[in-house]
Order: sequence, then C-alpha cells, then structure tokens
Amino acid sequence: MYLFLIRLSDMSEFRKAFAKAKNIAIITGAGVSAESGVPTFRGEHEKWRKWHSQVHLNKEAMSDYNILPSELHSLNLSTWIYPPPSLPQDLASPEAFSRNPSRVWEFYHYRRELVLDKKPSAVHLAIAECEARLKKQGRSVVVITQCQDDLHRQAGSKHVLKIHGSLLETRCMSCGQVTVNKQSPICAALKSKGAPGANVSDAQIPVDKLPRCEERDCRGLLRPNVVFFGETLDSHILTNVEKEMELCDLCLVVGTSSIVYPAAMFGPRVAARGVPVAEFNMNTTPKTEYFMYHFQGPCGTTLPPALAPHESEEL
Ligand SMILES: [Zn+2]
Repeated sequence: MYLFLIRLSDMSEFRKAFAKAKNIAIITGAGVSAESGVPTFRGEHEKWRKWHSQVHLNKEAMSDYNILPSELHSLNLSTWIYPPPSLPQDLASPEAFSRNPSRVWEFYHYRRELVLDKKPSAVHLAIAECEARLKKQGRSVVVITQCQDDLHRQAGSKHVLKIHGSLLETRCMSCGQVTVNKQSPICAALKSKGAPGANVSDAQIPVDKLPRCEERDCRGLLRPNVVFFGETLDSHILTNVEKEMELCDLCLVVGTSSIVYPAAMFGPRVAARGVPVAEFNMNTTPKTEYFMYHFQGPCGTTLPPALAPHESEEL
C-alpha cells in the first residue's frame, strides 16, 4: 500500500514515461480554462439568473454510465449523448433554444464576453510549447479538450480536437455554415445584455435582431456552435478522438472532474490498454483509481514541470 501511494505522485516515474512516449494525448477540461480566469460554472457559480447552467446528474442517469473496465474497449463513442438528457435544461439544450433563442443567446453572449478578453495560462503555454518541441523530434501531442474557449489555439497548440464545440463559432440553423466569430458584442441587440444576476429579466430580443447568417440570401438564425446537453457529439471529431486514443502511448487528463461523458471515459479507456495515464487535478475524481499517476493541486503548478524538456531530449 505504501509503495502504491508513493507511485501515485512520483513525478520522476512519470518523467521516465514522458521521455519514452512518441504520441501523447492530453485531455483537458474546465480546470485548465480556470487557470486563465474563465469561470467553471460549477458549485456556487453554477447558476445564470435563476437557471442551472449545468445538468445535474442524478443516480438514475448515471447508472447508464457505469461501464466495466472490460467493456471499455468495445464502446462506440459516436452514439453517446452528452450527457444524460434526463433532466430539463433551460439554457443549453436544443429545446431551450427553439423555445427562447433570445435567452439562450443572452447566456452565450455573456459566456463569449467572459472568454474574449482572457489570455492563455501557464498550462496552455506549456502544452503548446511541448507540442512544438516534440514535433521537431518526430513525436506528437494532441489536445482533446472539453473547453469551449479558444485558449489552446491562442497559446499555439496546432492539433486540437474540441469535442464540445466552440463559444467563438456560430452555426447557421438554415444552411449549416460554421463560422469563426469573435465580434464583441456579436450583434447590436446583445450589447450590454446577458447580465447573470438572479433578478435580471430576459431582454426578449426579437428573433430577427439575434445573430443572423451572413451567407448571401440566407439570413438564417445563428446558434452558438457548441454541443448542447442532450445532443450527440460531432461524429467526425469523435472518430479522430478514437484514433488518437488507440495511437497514444501516454495520456494526461488535466483539470477535469471526469464526470461528464463521454470525455470522462477517454482516460480510463486508454488505461485499459495498459498505457500510462496521469491525472492532474485539484482533487481526486471518480476516475482516479483507473490511472497510474495522480498529481494533485492547481494544474498551473503541477503540469508545466511535468512537460518541461527531459534531459534525454535532444534540443
Ligand atoms: Zn445560413
């Protein structure tokens, strides 16, 4: 037992695995964005006005997701729905958007404005620097992120799979066009709207004043290009995630509470192949027991030294 505990937090053991790895997959979550000051919408900050911004996972909903380690390998991730759509959701669901697009746009406008002025943190920079350095050695780093901001790319990461979409992209409800959009505000009618206070009332913006498609002759209503609760994840992206999970010979799970599926299963699935997986998080998670390494604390402190140049690297 004593040896096991030592192993959990032995950075020099992790560094040996890091030095040998050719293909590294780094799974990131809200804790990484939090290093840049982006709110996680968890705990006391979970509400926007009077609505929950997260789905509450009750026991019933979770029981569908109790996967045995022996089953991990045969899961078809592309059919999974994110996360269990068993509870009503007033802000981030397709139903909420069709019922009240003005309110949903106010919520996303608020979130866009929160990320637009943020800068990449030490974690984002360490990951991007590691990718660039290892590329010169013929090794690869891929970021598989649940974060909906653009901070990994801003830091310089090239190979990023955004499984939950992007706050800074729009998708047209009519023609399907996806467009990067970093305008602030995204449209005139949303200027100064979206305040989160419990007593703020809906702006009730007419639908023709909400963000509209700029493709010629379209003018369709735009929605944020994020995965709403109850929607399936992009199958093209998930196919790429599956490939990376098969390919990687080292996996890092950084700043995620590992409760939102299917992302919560990525690390355990890699571990089931016998590949070393290291978790970097403030706390242990329901998935910690699956992993070879666990480094506890703010990932801004624990991750940069883990990814720093190894003495065996030819720089
Ligand atoms: Zn359109």
